[in-house]
Amino acid sequence: MKVHLFYSTLPKEQIDLEVFENVVDFLQQSKGPIQFAAGMLDYRQEMPAFSMHSQCNSVEVKIHSISLNKKLALPKQKGKIRTWFSAEKFQTQKGKITEPEPEPSPDFPKREAYMPWDYFFDQCRRFREMNSVPDQDHVFLLSNMGNDKNWFGSIGPSGRDYFIHTANWDYFFKNADEQFPISYEVVVWLLRHLMFGDRETMLNGIHSKPKGCANDFCQNKEEIQLKMRTADVCQLCMDKL
Ligand SMILES: [Zn+2]
Repeated sequence: MKVHLFYSTLPKEQIDLEVFENVVDFLQQSKGPIQFAAGMLDYRQEMPAFSMHSQCNSVEVKIHSISLNKKLALPKQKGKIRTWFSAEKFQTQKGKITEPEPEPSPDFPKREAYMPWDYFFDQCRRFREMNSVPDQDHVFLLSNMGNDKNWFGSIGPSGRDYFIHTANWDYFFKNADEQFPISYEVVVWLLRHLMFGDRETMLNGIHSKPKGCANDFCQNKEEIQLKMRTADVCQLCMDKL
């Protein structure tokens, strides 16, 4: 499976080039049946220098050995038995915790330019035409331009054209490198392509209620934090896969 990631050079749409390079580089590090290629829709007539770097950080792992010389005494406290009278009680009854005040999020963007979904898929079509991309290949536009439905990304009618919104990630993941949520979105849309037969089935098959699965819809956009932190796929989706 070949996947083309590209950006547009139009000023309000162009992703930070360093972020774009990092996303491509990160995805290319994973060797397997999906091959990632990089390109652009150039509206300026000149090609910017484009380089790829491979980074490999060595991580030193230390192991502590633990020795138990003394025989441990049994705990003195004894457990008790309790009875649940309903599933609801079992699921909801918990001891209380005191939670520290959360750190304030960065200020949300007050204004945002956006375009209809069709606009992004039209750019995908133009990219395909200009680069003679075969129909079976997948094409992703990475764009800072907002979209009318305010999604993180979506899939076009062809089932192989996509866009990912690349701006505002610092609002949802404070201090995180945005290459990771953007790369995650690319991979999740490919996963959905493999899971569902067509675009309609796909858009109906994602979870409206968040469960920490790659296929959570995230109606409330903050729920993306749960979805990405779990980095998981639920059993229902695994069965479909
Ligand atoms: Zn799922």
